[in-house]
Amino acid sequence: MKTKISVVIPVWNEEGNINILYSKLRETLLKIDKNFEIIFINDGSFDNSYQLLKKIAKRDKKVKLISFSRNFGHMSAINAGLEHSTGERVVVMDADMQDPPFVIEKMYKKSLEGFDVVYGVKKKRKENFIRVYMMKVFYRLLSKISNIKIPLDAGTFSLVTRKVVNHINELPERNKYYSGLRAWAGYSQTGITYERAKRYKGKEASYARLFKLAMDQIVSFSFVPLKLASFLGFIFSFIAFLMIIVLFILKFFVNLGIVGWTSTITTILLIGGVQLITLGIIGEYLARIYDEVKHRPEYIVKEKINFKK
Ligand code: UDP
Ligand code: MG
Repeated sequence: MKTKISVVIPVWNEEGNINILYSKLRETLLKIDKNFEIIFINDGSFDNSYQLLKKIAKRDKKVKLISFSRNFGHMSAINAGLEHSTGERVVVMDADMQDPPFVIEKMYKKSLEGFDVVYGVKKKRKENFIRVYMMKVFYRLLSKISNIKIPLDAGTFSLVTRKVVNHINELPERNKYYSGLRAWAGYSQTGITYERAKRYKGKEASYARLFKLAMDQIVSFSFVPLKLASFLGFIFSFIAFLMIIVLFILKFFVNLGIVGWTSTITTILLIGGVQLITLGIIGEYLARIYDEVKHRPEYIVKEKINFKK
């Protein structure tokens, strides 16, 4: 029997969410088609998540478990899930109940209309104000500067068809950002708005982690920061050029040599700052290129449960 729908769920320390997620998800999936699989990726959790998932997988053979040898990160966990999925349609969602399972039914119906990608668009996020605002700014910035058209306010929660998953799996790159690549794949895409709930149990992602994810996505889908470096270079060279002319005229024609080191120091500091920033930007790209050329595997699987081979 062909698997109709696969659900890929990265899990990192979600002991308080796993049981409720599993029962709600199962309820929804049974309404859609009984040939489903749920793939949990245990991304090096150090709480009870692994034990809970193993227990569920023992009872329910439709639940599959991939355990990483350590924490490899949200995106790697998603990629492992995509690579192991067999369904004709594949859902990616978070384990913390922020992506409500019942929305999957709506996504499924939408995809039956012929859409290859149905992504969730977050409406009225029930999180703290600064976070929501920062996310909004990030999504708008990313969509402005990226090489491809990335929909606004769409995270990882989505349903895509097998052909889209295959395209993403075939990509040779290592740092794969699911929500961006899903947009990159093309075909017919549409969004469904849903109310993003608060995390059910556990702590929210830290700002440092969000910042890293944001940088990763910008660098993977845009060259604008690099172009900014040369743009700033031109601007400052132009200003310097004008200043040389002005100072020259003042000195030799108006006989007004400007004294004082304040202006000199501020200029040095300013230019120095700009140089460091642009070097830093180049470094961000360089680090990722280095990471790619090393060709290390994206993750290491320690254990698989309920997979055929
Ligand atoms: N996650 C993961 N590895 C990590 C961090 C997070 O697999 O290193 C999982 C986490 O369990 C959750 C999803 O990725 O299912 C999203 O994480 P989180 O809720 O912390 O992010 P946010 O909702 O704040 O974007
Ligand atoms: Mg979350």
